[in-house]
Amino acid sequence: MSSILITGGTLVTMDADRRVIADGGILTEGSRISKVGKSSEVRRESRAEFEIDAKGMVILPGLIDIHVHLAQAMLRGCADDASLIDWLQKFVWPLQGNYDAQDGKASAELCMLEMLKSGTTTFLESLLHSRYGFDGIAASVETSGIRGLLSKTVMGIPGYGNAEGIMHPGMVEDGETCLREVEGYFNRWNGKANGRIRVWYGARSLGGCTPDLYRQIAAGAEILKTGVTMHLNEVREDAEYAKKEFGKLPAEFMDDAGLVGPNVVFAHGVWLTEPEWNILAKKGATVAHCPSSNMKLASGIAKIPEMIRSGVNVGLGCDGGPSNNSYDMIREMKFASLLQKARLLNPLVMDAETVLELATINGARAIGLDKEIGSLEVNKRADLILVTFRNPHLVPAYNPISQLVYAATGSDVDTTIIDGRIIMKNRRVLTFDEEKVIREADERGTRLLERAGITIKPKWGYV
Ligand SMILES: [Zn+2]
Repeated sequence: MSSILITGGTLVTMDADRRVIADGGILTEGSRISKVGKSSEVRRESRAEFEIDAKGMVILPGLIDIHVHLAQAMLRGCADDASLIDWLQKFVWPLQGNYDAQDGKASAELCMLEMLKSGTTTFLESLLHSRYGFDGIAASVETSGIRGLLSKTVMGIPGYGNAEGIMHPGMVEDGETCLREVEGYFNRWNGKANGRIRVWYGARSLGGCTPDLYRQIAAGAEILKTGVTMHLNEVREDAEYAKKEFGKLPAEFMDDAGLVGPNVVFAHGVWLTEPEWNILAKKGATVAHCPSSNMKLASGIAKIPEMIRSGVNVGLGCDGGPSNNSYDMIREMKFASLLQKARLLNPLVMDAETVLELATINGARAIGLDKEIGSLEVNKRADLILVTFRNPHLVPAYNPISQLVYAATGSDVDTTIIDGRIIMKNRRVLTFDEEKVIREADERGTRLLERAGITIKPKWGYV
Protein backbone atom coordinates (compact mmCIF):
# COMPACT_ATOMS: atom_id res chain seq x y z
CA MET A 1 0.00 0.00 0.00
CA SER A 2 1.58 3.27 -1.05
CA SER A 3 1.79 6.10 1.45
CA ILE A 4 2.71 9.78 1.27
CA LEU A 5 3.82 12.00 4.16
CA ILE A 6 3.56 15.74 3.54
CA THR A 7 4.80 18.18 6.18
CA GLY A 8 5.65 21.84 6.71
CA GLY A 9 2.86 23.45 4.67
CA THR A 10 -0.09 25.68 5.45
CA LEU A 11 -2.94 23.18 5.47
CA VAL A 12 -6.41 24.39 4.51
CA THR A 13 -8.66 21.56 5.67
CA MET A 14 -12.14 22.77 4.56
CA ASP A 15 -13.46 20.58 7.40
CA ALA A 16 -16.63 21.57 9.31
CA ASP A 17 -14.65 24.04 11.48
CA ARG A 18 -12.72 25.32 8.43
CA ARG A 19 -9.45 24.82 10.27
CA VAL A 20 -6.29 26.19 8.67
CA ILE A 21 -3.21 24.54 10.18
CA ALA A 22 0.08 26.44 10.20
CA ASP A 23 3.06 24.06 9.79
CA GLY A 24 0.51 21.41 8.91
CA GLY A 25 0.99 17.89 7.68
CA ILE A 26 -0.97 15.04 6.19
CA LEU A 27 -0.40 11.31 5.82
CA THR A 28 -2.08 9.24 3.13
CA GLU A 29 -2.20 5.44 3.16
CA GLY A 30 -3.57 3.67 0.12
CA SER A 31 -6.24 5.86 -1.40
CA ARG A 32 -7.25 7.52 1.88
CA ILE A 33 -6.08 10.15 4.35
CA SER A 34 -4.94 8.63 7.65
CA LYS A 35 -3.62 11.66 9.57
CA VAL A 36 -4.15 15.44 9.45
CA GLY A 37 -2.64 17.91 11.92
CA LYS A 38 0.51 19.74 12.94
CA SER A 39 3.58 18.43 11.09
CA SER A 40 5.17 17.13 14.30
CA GLU A 41 2.06 15.10 15.22
CA VAL A 42 1.58 13.72 11.74
CA ARG A 43 5.26 12.77 11.45
CA ARG A 44 5.28 10.91 14.79
CA GLU A 45 5.49 7.14 14.23
CA SER A 46 4.69 7.62 10.55
CA ARG A 47 6.64 5.88 7.89
CA ALA A 48 5.83 6.65 4.28
CA GLU A 49 7.01 5.54 0.89
CA PHE A 50 7.13 9.14 -0.35
CA GLU A 51 7.89 12.24 1.69
CA ILE A 52 7.16 15.76 0.51
CA ASP A 53 8.50 18.90 2.17
CA ALA A 54 5.71 21.45 1.67
CA LYS A 55 7.59 24.47 3.10
CA GLY A 56 6.32 27.61 1.36
CA MET A 57 3.32 25.73 0.02
CA VAL A 58 -0.38 25.66 0.77
CA ILE A 59 -2.00 22.22 0.99
CA LEU A 60 -5.62 22.15 -0.16
CA PRO A 61 -8.33 19.66 -1.09
CA GLY A 62 -8.26 19.05 -4.87
CA LEU A 63 -10.56 21.39 -6.75
CA ILE A 64 -13.87 20.07 -8.09
CA ASP A 65 -15.11 21.41 -11.43
CA ILE A 66 -18.79 20.55 -11.78
CA HIS A 67 -19.37 21.78 -15.31
CA VAL A 68 -16.92 20.65 -17.98
CA HIS A 69 -17.09 19.85 -21.70
CA LEU A 70 -14.12 17.58 -22.42
CA ALA A 71 -14.74 17.60 -26.15
CA GLN A 72 -14.51 21.37 -26.31
CA ALA A 73 -10.90 21.70 -25.18
CA MET A 74 -9.80 21.18 -28.78
CA LEU A 75 -12.21 23.95 -29.85
CA ARG A 76 -10.53 26.55 -27.67
CA GLY A 77 -10.67 29.91 -29.40
CA CYS A 78 -12.76 28.68 -32.34
CA ALA A 79 -15.74 30.97 -31.66
CA ASP A 80 -14.59 34.01 -29.74
CA ASP A 81 -16.69 37.17 -29.64
CA ALA A 82 -19.86 35.52 -31.03
CA SER A 83 -23.45 35.35 -29.70
CA LEU A 84 -24.68 32.05 -28.22
CA ILE A 85 -26.81 30.71 -31.10
CA ASP A 86 -24.20 31.75 -33.72
CA TRP A 87 -21.54 30.37 -31.44
CA LEU A 88 -23.34 27.00 -31.37
CA GLN A 89 -24.71 26.86 -34.89
CA LYS A 90 -21.84 28.26 -36.94
CA PHE A 91 -18.86 27.02 -34.98
CA VAL A 92 -19.22 24.67 -32.02
CA TRP A 93 -21.85 22.22 -33.34
CA PRO A 94 -20.43 21.82 -36.89
CA LEU A 95 -17.04 21.13 -35.34
CA GLN A 96 -18.35 18.73 -32.69
CA GLY A 97 -20.56 17.15 -35.35
CA ASN A 98 -17.41 16.22 -37.27
CA TYR A 99 -15.61 14.58 -34.36
CA ASP A 100 -14.58 10.96 -34.46
CA ALA A 101 -13.66 8.87 -31.41
CA GLN A 102 -9.96 9.70 -31.77
CA ASP A 103 -10.74 13.42 -31.78
CA GLY A 104 -12.91 12.94 -28.69
CA LYS A 105 -10.09 11.17 -26.88
CA ALA A 106 -7.46 13.74 -27.93
CA SER A 107 -9.63 16.63 -26.73
CA ALA A 108 -10.49 14.87 -23.45
CA GLU A 109 -6.81 14.19 -22.75
CA LEU A 110 -5.89 17.81 -23.46
CA CYS A 111 -8.63 18.91 -21.09
CA MET A 112 -7.63 16.49 -18.34
CA LEU A 113 -3.98 17.48 -18.68
CA GLU A 114 -4.94 21.14 -18.23
CA MET A 115 -7.15 20.30 -15.24
CA LEU A 116 -4.45 18.22 -13.53
CA LYS A 117 -1.90 21.00 -14.04
CA SER A 118 -4.19 23.60 -12.49
CA GLY A 119 -5.33 21.67 -9.42
CA THR A 120 -8.62 20.09 -10.51
CA THR A 121 -8.82 16.55 -9.18
CA THR A 122 -12.50 15.82 -9.91
CA PHE A 123 -14.74 16.93 -12.76
CA LEU A 124 -18.31 16.47 -13.93
CA GLU A 125 -18.51 16.22 -17.71
CA SER A 126 -21.83 17.48 -18.92
CA LEU A 127 -22.64 16.20 -22.42
CA LEU A 128 -20.76 13.38 -24.12
CA HIS A 129 -22.28 12.67 -27.51
CA SER A 130 -21.79 9.14 -28.84
CA ARG A 131 -19.52 10.23 -31.66
CA TYR A 132 -16.84 11.43 -29.19
CA GLY A 133 -16.25 7.80 -28.20
CA PHE A 134 -17.34 7.25 -24.59
CA ASP A 135 -15.20 4.12 -24.06
CA GLY A 136 -12.02 5.81 -25.27
CA ILE A 137 -12.62 8.82 -23.03
CA ALA A 138 -13.42 6.65 -19.99
CA ALA A 139 -10.20 4.70 -20.63
CA SER A 140 -8.30 8.02 -20.67
CA VAL A 141 -9.85 8.99 -17.33
CA GLU A 142 -8.57 5.70 -15.96
CA THR A 143 -5.05 6.32 -17.34
CA SER A 144 -4.89 9.96 -16.26
CA GLY A 145 -5.56 9.21 -12.59
CA ILE A 146 -8.20 11.96 -12.34
CA ARG A 147 -11.65 11.45 -10.77
CA GLY A 148 -14.20 11.83 -13.57
CA LEU A 149 -17.99 11.78 -13.70
CA LEU A 150 -18.99 11.26 -17.31
CA SER A 151 -22.48 12.22 -18.43
CA LYS A 152 -23.68 10.67 -21.66
CA THR A 153 -25.93 12.99 -23.65
CA VAL A 154 -29.63 12.20 -23.78
CA MET A 155 -31.59 14.13 -26.38
CA GLY A 156 -34.70 13.72 -28.51
CA ILE A 157 -35.13 16.97 -30.46
CA PRO A 158 -32.39 18.67 -32.52
CA GLY A 159 -33.14 22.15 -31.18
CA TYR A 160 -32.22 24.71 -28.57
CA GLY A 161 -35.13 26.45 -26.86
CA ASN A 162 -37.36 28.05 -29.47
CA ALA A 163 -34.78 27.54 -32.24
CA GLU A 164 -35.97 24.25 -33.70
CA GLY A 165 -33.95 21.93 -35.92
CA ILE A 166 -30.79 23.99 -35.69
CA MET A 167 -28.45 21.29 -34.46
CA HIS A 168 -25.76 19.99 -36.81
CA PRO A 169 -26.80 16.54 -38.17
CA GLY A 170 -23.58 15.04 -36.82
CA MET A 171 -24.74 15.83 -33.28
CA VAL A 172 -28.27 14.45 -33.52
CA GLU A 173 -29.09 11.35 -31.49
CA ASP A 174 -32.30 9.49 -30.79
CA GLY A 175 -33.81 9.38 -27.28
CA GLU A 176 -34.30 5.63 -26.96
CA THR A 177 -30.77 4.91 -28.16
CA CYS A 178 -29.35 7.52 -25.77
CA LEU A 179 -31.12 5.94 -22.77
CA ARG A 180 -29.88 2.47 -23.75
CA GLU A 181 -26.35 3.78 -24.16
CA VAL A 182 -26.30 5.38 -20.71
CA GLU A 183 -27.26 2.04 -19.17
CA GLY A 184 -24.60 0.23 -21.20
CA TYR A 185 -21.84 2.69 -20.23
CA PHE A 186 -23.05 2.65 -16.63
CA ASN A 187 -22.74 -1.12 -16.47
CA ARG A 188 -19.33 -1.06 -18.10
CA TRP A 189 -17.67 1.89 -16.34
CA ASN A 190 -19.49 3.07 -13.21
CA GLY A 191 -17.26 2.50 -10.16
CA LYS A 192 -14.25 1.48 -12.26
CA ALA A 193 -10.70 2.68 -11.51
CA ASN A 194 -11.16 2.20 -7.75
CA GLY A 195 -14.40 4.20 -7.91
CA ARG A 196 -12.85 7.17 -9.73
CA ILE A 197 -15.17 6.83 -12.73
CA ARG A 198 -18.92 7.43 -12.50
CA VAL A 199 -21.51 7.53 -15.25
CA TRP A 200 -24.33 10.09 -15.22
CA TYR A 201 -27.17 11.19 -17.48
CA GLY A 202 -26.47 14.38 -19.46
CA ALA A 203 -29.90 15.75 -20.37
CA ARG A 204 -29.87 18.27 -23.21
CA SER A 205 -31.26 21.69 -22.34
CA LEU A 206 -34.88 22.78 -22.87
CA GLY A 207 -35.87 22.34 -26.49
CA GLY A 208 -33.61 19.28 -26.79
CA CYS A 209 -35.85 16.68 -25.09
CA THR A 210 -39.58 16.00 -24.92
CA PRO A 211 -41.23 16.16 -21.45
CA ASP A 212 -41.62 12.39 -21.63
CA LEU A 213 -37.90 11.94 -22.27
CA TYR A 214 -37.06 14.07 -19.23
CA ARG A 215 -39.33 11.79 -17.17
CA GLN A 216 -37.56 8.72 -18.55
CA ILE A 217 -34.19 10.22 -17.58
CA ALA A 218 -35.45 10.84 -14.02
CA ALA A 219 -36.74 7.26 -13.81
CA GLY A 220 -33.49 5.83 -15.19
CA ALA A 221 -31.37 7.82 -12.72
CA GLU A 222 -33.54 6.53 -9.87
CA ILE A 223 -33.07 2.92 -10.94
CA LEU A 224 -29.32 3.23 -11.49
CA LYS A 225 -28.93 5.44 -8.38
CA THR A 226 -26.92 7.92 -10.36
CA GLY A 227 -26.97 11.62 -11.22
CA VAL A 228 -28.29 13.92 -13.93
CA THR A 229 -26.79 17.15 -15.18
CA MET A 230 -28.32 19.67 -17.54
CA HIS A 231 -27.94 23.28 -18.70
CA LEU A 232 -30.81 25.30 -17.22
CA ASN A 233 -31.72 28.99 -17.49
CA GLU A 234 -28.38 29.72 -19.13
CA VAL A 235 -29.96 32.37 -21.37
CA ARG A 236 -33.12 34.44 -20.95
CA GLU A 237 -34.74 32.56 -23.86
CA ASP A 238 -34.87 29.39 -21.71
CA ALA A 239 -37.41 31.03 -19.41
CA GLU A 240 -39.42 32.37 -22.36
CA TYR A 241 -39.45 28.90 -23.94
CA ALA A 242 -40.67 27.18 -20.75
CA LYS A 243 -43.38 29.76 -20.31
CA LYS A 244 -44.59 29.40 -23.90
CA GLU A 245 -44.40 25.58 -24.07
CA PHE A 246 -45.38 24.59 -20.55
CA GLY A 247 -46.77 27.73 -18.91
CA LYS A 248 -44.19 27.34 -16.17
CA LEU A 249 -40.81 28.55 -15.02
CA PRO A 250 -37.99 26.23 -16.19
CA ALA A 251 -37.23 24.82 -12.73
CA GLU A 252 -40.96 24.31 -12.06
CA PHE A 253 -41.19 22.31 -15.26
CA MET A 254 -38.12 20.25 -14.36
CA ASP A 255 -39.59 19.60 -10.92
CA ASP A 256 -42.81 18.30 -12.51
CA ALA A 257 -40.70 16.01 -14.67
CA GLY A 258 -39.05 14.62 -11.51
CA LEU A 259 -35.72 16.15 -12.36
CA VAL A 260 -35.01 18.31 -9.33
CA GLY A 261 -33.24 16.42 -6.55
CA PRO A 262 -29.98 15.97 -4.66
CA ASN A 263 -28.59 13.97 -7.59
CA VAL A 264 -29.12 16.82 -10.07
CA VAL A 265 -26.67 19.53 -11.14
CA PHE A 266 -28.02 22.41 -13.22
CA ALA A 267 -25.39 24.31 -15.14
CA HIS A 268 -25.45 28.12 -15.20
CA GLY A 269 -28.83 29.02 -13.66
CA VAL A 270 -28.29 32.62 -14.79
CA TRP A 271 -31.99 33.44 -15.18
CA LEU A 272 -33.36 31.38 -12.29
CA THR A 273 -35.79 33.37 -10.14
CA GLU A 274 -36.61 33.26 -6.44
CA PRO A 275 -39.45 30.68 -6.66
CA GLU A 276 -37.03 28.44 -8.54
CA TRP A 277 -34.22 28.90 -5.97
CA ASN A 278 -36.72 27.74 -3.35
CA ILE A 279 -37.54 24.59 -5.31
CA LEU A 280 -33.85 23.80 -5.79
CA ALA A 281 -33.08 24.48 -2.12
CA LYS A 282 -35.98 22.33 -0.90
CA LYS A 283 -35.07 19.42 -3.17
CA GLY A 284 -31.29 19.69 -2.62
CA ALA A 285 -30.31 20.30 -6.25
CA THR A 286 -27.12 22.16 -7.19
CA VAL A 287 -26.31 25.06 -9.49
CA ALA A 288 -22.96 24.93 -11.31
CA HIS A 289 -21.92 28.55 -11.55
CA CYS A 290 -19.79 29.32 -14.63
CA PRO A 291 -18.87 33.01 -14.38
CA SER A 292 -16.33 33.20 -17.23
CA SER A 293 -18.65 31.50 -19.69
CA ASN A 294 -21.61 33.68 -18.66
CA MET A 295 -19.56 36.83 -19.11
CA LYS A 296 -17.93 35.80 -22.39
CA LEU A 297 -21.16 34.69 -24.03
CA ALA A 298 -22.96 37.67 -22.47
CA SER A 299 -25.56 35.30 -21.00
CA GLY A 300 -26.06 37.47 -17.90
CA ILE A 301 -25.02 37.34 -14.25
CA ALA A 302 -26.37 34.58 -12.01
CA LYS A 303 -27.65 35.78 -8.63
CA ILE A 304 -25.27 33.56 -6.69
CA PRO A 305 -25.21 35.20 -3.22
CA GLU A 306 -29.02 35.30 -3.25
CA MET A 307 -29.20 31.61 -4.24
CA ILE A 308 -26.77 30.65 -1.49
CA ARG A 309 -28.84 32.64 1.02
CA SER A 310 -31.95 30.77 -0.16
CA GLY A 311 -30.21 27.50 0.67
CA VAL A 312 -29.22 26.38 -2.82
CA ASN A 313 -25.99 24.39 -3.05
CA VAL A 314 -23.73 26.20 -5.54
CA GLY A 315 -20.52 24.83 -7.05
CA LEU A 316 -18.19 26.12 -9.73
CA GLY A 317 -17.55 25.16 -13.35
CA CYS A 318 -15.18 26.24 -16.12
CA ASP A 319 -17.55 25.10 -18.90
CA GLY A 320 -15.62 24.74 -22.18
CA GLY A 321 -12.78 25.73 -24.48
CA PRO A 322 -14.81 28.07 -26.70
CA SER A 323 -16.73 29.70 -23.83
CA ASN A 324 -14.09 30.31 -21.17
CA ASN A 325 -11.39 29.58 -22.76
CA SER A 326 -9.60 27.79 -19.97
CA TYR A 327 -10.20 24.99 -17.48
CA ASP A 328 -8.36 26.75 -14.64
CA MET A 329 -10.52 26.65 -11.51
CA ILE A 330 -8.23 29.01 -9.60
CA ARG A 331 -8.82 31.76 -12.15
CA GLU A 332 -12.52 30.87 -12.16
CA MET A 333 -12.69 31.48 -8.40
CA LYS A 334 -11.47 35.05 -8.88
CA PHE A 335 -14.11 35.76 -11.54
CA ALA A 336 -16.81 34.23 -9.32
CA SER A 337 -15.95 36.68 -6.58
CA LEU A 338 -15.37 39.87 -8.57
CA LEU A 339 -18.45 39.49 -10.76
CA GLN A 340 -20.86 39.55 -7.80
CA LYS A 341 -19.06 42.42 -6.06
CA ALA A 342 -19.41 44.51 -9.22
CA ARG A 343 -23.06 43.54 -9.76
CA LEU A 344 -24.16 44.29 -6.20
CA LEU A 345 -21.81 47.26 -5.70
CA ASN A 346 -20.78 45.52 -2.50
CA PRO A 347 -17.23 44.25 -1.83
CA LEU A 348 -18.46 42.20 1.13
CA VAL A 349 -20.29 39.62 -0.99
CA MET A 350 -18.64 36.46 -2.31
CA ASP A 351 -15.54 36.66 -0.15
CA ALA A 352 -12.56 34.44 -0.90
CA GLU A 353 -13.59 31.85 1.69
CA THR A 354 -17.08 31.43 0.19
CA VAL A 355 -15.61 31.02 -3.28
CA LEU A 356 -13.20 28.33 -2.07
CA GLU A 357 -16.20 26.48 -0.61
CA LEU A 358 -17.83 26.53 -4.07
CA ALA A 359 -14.71 25.00 -5.61
CA THR A 360 -14.26 22.25 -2.98
CA ILE A 361 -16.83 21.02 -0.46
CA ASN A 362 -19.90 22.39 -2.29
CA GLY A 363 -18.70 20.71 -5.48
CA ALA A 364 -18.33 17.44 -3.57
CA ARG A 365 -21.88 17.79 -2.21
CA ALA A 366 -23.16 18.50 -5.73
CA ILE A 367 -21.98 15.14 -6.97
CA GLY A 368 -22.93 13.19 -3.84
CA LEU A 369 -19.32 12.66 -2.79
CA ASP A 370 -19.05 14.98 0.22
CA LYS A 371 -18.37 12.01 2.51
CA GLU A 372 -15.44 11.06 0.26
CA ILE A 373 -13.80 14.24 -1.05
CA GLY A 374 -13.96 18.05 -0.85
CA SER A 375 -12.04 18.46 2.43
CA LEU A 376 -8.88 17.10 4.04
CA GLU A 377 -10.10 14.83 6.83
CA VAL A 378 -9.14 11.41 8.14
CA ASN A 379 -10.72 8.53 6.16
CA LYS A 380 -11.61 10.69 3.18
CA ARG A 381 -10.07 9.97 -0.21
CA ALA A 382 -6.61 11.48 -0.58
CA ASP A 383 -7.37 14.07 -3.28
CA LEU A 384 -5.19 17.10 -2.62
CA ILE A 385 -3.00 19.74 -4.18
CA LEU A 386 0.09 21.68 -3.17
CA VAL A 387 0.26 25.27 -4.33
CA THR A 388 3.62 27.01 -4.15
CA PHE A 389 3.47 30.44 -2.58
CA ARG A 390 7.14 31.14 -3.33
CA ASN A 391 6.23 33.18 -6.41
CA PRO A 392 6.45 36.99 -6.40
CA HIS A 393 2.74 37.50 -7.04
CA LEU A 394 1.89 35.47 -3.91
CA VAL A 395 4.16 37.23 -1.42
CA PRO A 396 3.40 38.17 1.31
CA ALA A 397 0.59 35.79 2.17
CA TYR A 398 -1.16 37.31 5.18
CA ASN A 399 -4.28 35.34 4.32
CA PRO A 400 -3.46 32.34 2.10
CA ILE A 401 -7.09 31.91 1.06
CA SER A 402 -7.52 35.41 -0.33
CA GLN A 403 -4.09 35.11 -1.97
CA LEU A 404 -5.17 31.88 -3.59
CA VAL A 405 -8.44 33.31 -4.90
CA TYR A 406 -7.31 36.79 -5.92
CA ALA A 407 -3.64 36.40 -6.86
CA ALA A 408 -2.85 32.79 -7.77
CA THR A 409 -3.40 30.97 -11.06
CA GLY A 410 -3.48 27.28 -11.93
CA SER A 411 0.21 27.50 -12.86
CA ASP A 412 1.08 27.88 -9.18
CA VAL A 413 -0.05 24.31 -8.47
CA ASP A 414 3.08 22.25 -7.88
CA THR A 415 1.76 18.81 -6.92
CA THR A 416 -1.52 17.00 -7.56
CA ILE A 417 -2.44 13.85 -5.62
CA ILE A 418 -5.60 11.85 -6.41
CA ASP A 419 -6.82 8.74 -4.63
CA GLY A 420 -3.51 8.61 -2.77
CA ARG A 421 -1.42 8.62 -5.93
CA ILE A 422 0.99 11.37 -7.01
CA ILE A 423 -0.31 12.44 -10.43
CA MET A 424 1.74 15.64 -10.85
CA LYS A 425 5.04 16.44 -9.17
CA ASN A 426 7.02 19.68 -9.65
CA ARG A 427 4.46 20.58 -12.37
CA ARG A 428 5.21 17.42 -14.38
CA VAL A 429 2.22 15.13 -14.97
CA LEU A 430 3.36 11.54 -14.50
CA THR A 431 0.40 9.71 -16.04
CA PHE A 432 0.39 11.32 -19.49
CA ASP A 433 3.08 12.01 -22.09
CA GLU A 434 2.43 15.77 -21.99
CA GLU A 435 4.13 16.60 -25.31
CA LYS A 436 2.21 13.85 -27.09
CA VAL A 437 -1.16 14.99 -25.71
CA ILE A 438 -0.49 18.59 -26.79
CA ARG A 439 0.80 17.60 -30.26
CA GLU A 440 -2.12 15.25 -30.89
CA ALA A 441 -4.76 17.86 -29.96
CA ASP A 442 -3.01 20.52 -32.02
CA GLU A 443 -2.84 18.36 -35.16
CA ARG A 444 -6.32 16.90 -34.80
CA GLY A 445 -7.81 20.34 -34.15
CA THR A 446 -6.38 21.68 -37.43
CA ARG A 447 -7.64 18.67 -39.40
CA LEU A 448 -11.07 18.99 -37.77
CA LEU A 449 -11.45 22.61 -38.88
CA GLU A 450 -10.57 21.60 -42.46
CA ARG A 451 -13.05 18.70 -42.40
CA ALA A 452 -15.83 20.94 -41.06
CA GLY A 453 -15.01 23.64 -43.63
CA ILE A 454 -14.52 26.28 -40.93
CA THR A 455 -11.86 28.95 -41.15
CA ILE A 456 -11.05 31.09 -38.13
CA LYS A 457 -10.42 34.59 -39.39
CA PRO A 458 -8.60 36.76 -36.85
CA LYS A 459 -9.60 40.40 -37.21
CA TRP A 460 -5.97 41.37 -37.51
CA GLY A 461 -4.35 39.30 -40.26
CA TYR A 462 -0.91 37.73 -40.20
CA VAL A 463 1.82 39.32 -42.31
ZN1 LIG B 1 -21.91 23.94 -20.78
